[in-house]
Amino acid sequence: MLNCRDVGTNATEFLSGALPIKTNLLVTWHVVRCANCRRAVIQIITMLIALRKREAKPVSEEQVQAWLQALEEHNHTHPH
Ligand SMILES: [Zn+2]
Repeated sequence: MLNCRDVGTNATEFLSGALPIKTNLLVTWHVVRCANCRRAVIQIITMLIALRKREAKPVSEEQVQAWLQALEEHNHTHPH
């Protein structure tokens, strides 16, 4: 049986789906029943989402610039 510390040390792996399915089930079972760990897991999820947003933003901006540039080049070579 897992205790709160076990869940805490496995939380990141649990959320990234890196745990073996049996451990994953034990962590899920604990988190469902334990308000402390549920709160901790929610905090980690929020953090992960924030990190992902920060990483994704420059990529999408770059992509938009690339699209605009491609559009512009297209208009130059094929004027309407
Ligand atoms: Zn707990």
